[in-house]
Amino acid sequence: MKQKKLIVGNWKMNPQTGAVAGKIFDGIKKGIVTFKNTDVAMCPPVIFIPELSKKLSAATILGVQNVSASKEGAFTGEISIGMLAQFKVKYVILGHSERREMGETDFMISKKVESALNAKLSVILCVGEKERDEECTYLEMLRLQIENSLLNIPKGLLSKLVIAYEPVWAIGEKATGRIDPAGLLEIVIFIRKVLSGIYDQETAHSLKILYGGSVDEKNSEGFMKEGGVAGLLVGRASLNPKKFIEIVKIAENL
Ligand code: PEP
Repeated sequence: MKQKKLIVGNWKMNPQTGAVAGKIFDGIKKGIVTFKNTDVAMCPPVIFIPELSKKLSAATILGVQNVSASKEGAFTGEISIGMLAQFKVKYVILGHSERREMGETDFMISKKVESALNAKLSVILCVGEKERDEECTYLEMLRLQIENSLLNIPKGLLSKLVIAYEPVWAIGEKATGRIDPAGLLEIVIFIRKVLSGIYDQETAHSLKILYGGSVDEKNSEGFMKEGGVAGLLVGRASLNPKKFIEIVKIAENL
């Protein structure tokens, strides 16, 4: 079964003002207005969400980059799922390597995944190894990361779960390498095998898998055509409307 494509923009801690955030959002919104086959989610810093939610259209979706696992209470600095719901936020990125680097563990991530899915918020769960080794122990690490991040998540909650494979070594300015579509396909098969072990084959095949790591308008077609993924998680290129629209266009026409 052909899955609807999903392109997600992770704006990270950018841009620095609401005015620029509005411009980026408007630019992307204008460029994707006629697209129908691709879901497009933009995940800006949470402070821009209230203003951007007023700009939402049929072709645009808002997401965030983190959320608290708790509903309310004494959690200084945290944002709850309920607070986001009133601004029509539909997606949350969880387990991003930059948050894992700040100390988020698989256990903490699994709690957030559970809370978000229970609240009917779609989750983009990021997994990926820090580096590769010739003995392929990174595959074992990846397996554990997936299993632990999905601890206590029953099959019934999975309809709103998306897995994003993001090898840390291929992300951002500090990337030390690039994956090619054939290498990505191998990992996608591996991830489905792990999911099949936790759940079953049918569930494993129904889940959407995205790729993220230095995606741009030049390499995105290969990832989606030959890499076995149903979409992309885009960092830097998502802040450039022209590049991002081009990536969405490629997804739309596949
Ligand atoms: C990311 O950090 O999620 C990401 C994919 O970043 P970039 O596209 O900039 O490598």
